[in-house]
Amino acid sequence: MAMAGSGVLPAEVDVAVVGAGFSGLYMLYRLRGLGLRAVVFDEAGDVGGTWYWNRYPGARCDVPTTDYAYSFDAQLEEDWVWSEKYAAQPEILAYLQHVADRYDLRRDIRFGTRITAAVWDEAARRWRLRTGDGDEVSCRYYIMASGCLSLPKAPDIDGVDRYRGEVYLTGRWPHGGVDFSRKNVAVVGTGSSGIQCIPLIAGEAARLTVFQRTPNFSVPARNGPPPPDRVALLATDRAGYRQAARWSRGGVPRELTDVSGVTAPEYVRRERFEDAWQAGELFAILGVFSDQGVNAVSNSRVAEMIREKIRAVVSDADVADALSPTDYPFGTKRPCLDTSYFETFNLPHVRLVDLRRTPIVAVTEAGIDTAEESFEFDAIVFATGFDAMTGPLVSVAVTGTDGVTLEDKWQHGPVTYLGLMTTGFPNFFTITGPQSPSVLSNMVVSIEQHVDWIADCLQRLRAENLDRIEPTPLAEAGWVQHNQDCADITLYPRANSWYMGANVPGKPRVFLPYIGGVDAYRRACDEVAENGFMGFRLDGPAGSRCNDGVIRRLQPDMAMVLDLVASLGLPPIEAMSAPDARAFSEATAASRPPGPEVGEIADGVLPGPAGDLAYRLYRPPTRGPHPLIAYFHGGGWVLGSQDSDDPLCRDLCVRTGSVVVSVNYRHAPEDRFPAAADDAFAAVAWIAANAAALGGIPGQLTVAGWSAGGNVAAITCQLARDAGGPDIASQLLLAPVTDCDLGRPSYASNGEGFILTAGLMRWFWDHYADEADRANPKASPLRGTLDGLPPAVVVTAEFDPLRDEGDAYAGALAAAGVPVRHIRARGHTHTSLTMVDVVISGAPVRAEIAEALDSLRPEPARS
Ligand SMILES: Cc1cc2nc3c(=O)[nH]c(=O)nc-3n(C[C@H](O)[C@H](O)[C@H](O)COP(=O)(O)OP(=O)(O)OC[C@H]3O[C@@H](n4cnc5c(N)ncnc54)[C@H](O)[C@@H]3O)c2cc1C
Repeated sequence: MAMAGSGVLPAEVDVAVVGAGFSGLYMLYRLRGLGLRAVVFDEAGDVGGTWYWNRYPGARCDVPTTDYAYSFDAQLEEDWVWSEKYAAQPEILAYLQHVADRYDLRRDIRFGTRITAAVWDEAARRWRLRTGDGDEVSCRYYIMASGCLSLPKAPDIDGVDRYRGEVYLTGRWPHGGVDFSRKNVAVVGTGSSGIQCIPLIAGEAARLTVFQRTPNFSVPARNGPPPPDRVALLATDRAGYRQAARWSRGGVPRELTDVSGVTAPEYVRRERFEDAWQAGELFAILGVFSDQGVNAVSNSRVAEMIREKIRAVVSDADVADALSPTDYPFGTKRPCLDTSYFETFNLPHVRLVDLRRTPIVAVTEAGIDTAEESFEFDAIVFATGFDAMTGPLVSVAVTGTDGVTLEDKWQHGPVTYLGLMTTGFPNFFTITGPQSPSVLSNMVVSIEQHVDWIADCLQRLRAENLDRIEPTPLAEAGWVQHNQDCADITLYPRANSWYMGANVPGKPRVFLPYIGGVDAYRRACDEVAENGFMGFRLDGPAGSRCNDGVIRRLQPDMAMVLDLVASLGLPPIEAMSAPDARAFSEATAASRPPGPEVGEIADGVLPGPAGDLAYRLYRPPTRGPHPLIAYFHGGGWVLGSQDSDDPLCRDLCVRTGSVVVSVNYRHAPEDRFPAAADDAFAAVAWIAANAAALGGIPGQLTVAGWSAGGNVAAITCQLARDAGGPDIASQLLLAPVTDCDLGRPSYASNGEGFILTAGLMRWFWDHYADEADRANPKASPLRGTLDGLPPAVVVTAEFDPLRDEGDAYAGALAAAGVPVRHIRARGHTHTSLTMVDVVISGAPVRAEIAEALDSLRPEPARS
């Protein structure tokens, strides 16, 4: 059989790998170490991948090279000394060539060989790969190390083929270099490659015209020798430094800040920004504030400070404006590092054409026509980016079980388990595949993690006499959902970026990489492997096994809160006295975000059965009268006040357009059962009677509450029905206590680790009610008569010990003929929805609650 490299291509191997860049080289090294027969294919003429193809002037890495290097062999690290903070392409290529030589890797690599098709043969349990030359190879395991940015995107401009001058694509640059001197040159595209090459081409060419569709944020790289502090760290504790990188958010050790761009004073914001600007590092500028990736205000502050920098450099105000991004949040498109990029536009022979104002109409024989002008050029450089992440994978006709191709399966976006495998394609692995951290991280760290995971997996399969692995649909769907959840809490999906596939016409608009962090991702992969390859079906001569399941079900921001709480080692509330518990919960609430602005807040008192009850009224900013909500706080009848649930009440007020009256009620153990219920009923009666004076619409009263507040709200509705008034239009029960039976399954599954514990619930009950009273419907409304109650919105959270009693209440209401909207908050805990602006994933649920309440209102009152 013919082949491009030396020797004969074997008809059968254990493993075939596509790609000989950072990924493929290390994969081959590990496979050899396992004693597996492996062959690597690359259509390039040598090793290097990205660094083989991208030879344009100025091509260099944007993660410091001290970090952008292998860590698997300490001796390799000792022996290789980088010359610059950000090494240029020739040096990185030389490094990868050195790696290939050092481990004698080339003998198993077929260069100049493109894999065009791969078909799974279920009977043989092997993949059959076809090369562009028509050769075939069969392998047990097929690994795509084909890169995230290896398929350049052809310029989608009319007439490109007509042009008679020189044409260059940054991602496929001629090996001999290009001489631009005395030439009139165009560069189309101002992404990372454009921003890197424009200053250098400007330095050579007689004239340079830059065609820009989307301006990009860019930060001066401040390149030079490798940073001495980093070099010193590596010299003193190389292993520790690399370990820190593996467990960092982005693959480079960095201390995360807790400074918010919303609440920090301006001088602190400026100081932090200036430090990051001077550092000239991507992760520094992406981490000026803790919340810049998720909060639009925080983000806009960084963005504006960068725009100030651009305006300070670019002398022509119009050009500065055109170069300043304004229509997507900072960081949601990959920011660039540059050397004199913005300064280049001050040169007299450099011109910027803003394609948003004058779009390209066509490429002509001589140059480029825009809507306003005809340009002639000697050379056009297209820096038009890549069909990122999925492009190289689906460009091979990969056919899995049942004849389904990868392209078909992914027609609405990639569907993977851990970004490593995809159901229906057994024994097929992707290195830095979509839905893994990949392009959001220092890729070498992510590559090593993927390669190690795959190698360990193959080793385990062999050790256990298994030879087939495939993710289950359940595990895969769970991972896709988790990816989506992670992206949805960020600002990233707001940009038309290549992260979203938005740069390629017709490509589905889905956030492609995993944004939960290198550390969180590694933890998930490790857990999967440790739990018997959870979510994978394993087969082979030794039999079959499957520990099916979903590896991440909690909302990612709630998971972070829980991690933080766990790390603080706080004492359990149930070990405290009631006064201490109150002081403790007030202290923990002190530093939270305030919640949204409302039109007006007023404190007052209303008469209760045993004295005045304090209330706080929230009025929407819109003109009244408004629907009314009587709200009761949570806290297990022992803790809480108008203050404790203040952010939630503000949110409820703004979202529902209602006047919210948050009423305090007597607390246990000082005032035990049924004091709380009696107070709530009296308060609702008073609010209903005073609806107009409070600015409410009479007859449109909702009774609402969270947790124990949900308990008294539900009871109030029952009492009002029995008493023939007050008239209640609807009830909103958020994670309510509905029953004293603590034996339901959710108590067992969610009773520990989710803030509200089973032990704390017991403590609450013990403080509130004697055993003999607990089954009374005035304590356990689930045991009451439910027909004739007002329509209800019942919200239960997946990871709440109270979930099942809330579910039971929603079911029982429906069975009694009460209209019910039951909202199940997936991935949430008992407290998630109350943590306004902290647990961002709670916001869509609260929006759904507002919509549900609105739908229960009488027609004319609906918003
Ligand atoms: C200009 C540029 C700068 C970058 N800078 C950084 C940086 O600073 N930090 C960072 O983390 N990342 C950076 N990246 C991302 C970079 O792609 C990765 O860091 C890394 O090099 C990827 O290695 P890889 O082996 O996974 O893929 P690649 O290096 O892309 O190698 C994949 C190889 O697979 C081959 N291939 C693909 N499909 C087939 C097929 N069907 N048949 C045969 N061969 C095939 C390709 O020819 C290619 O050689 C940069 C990317 C570019 C383009």
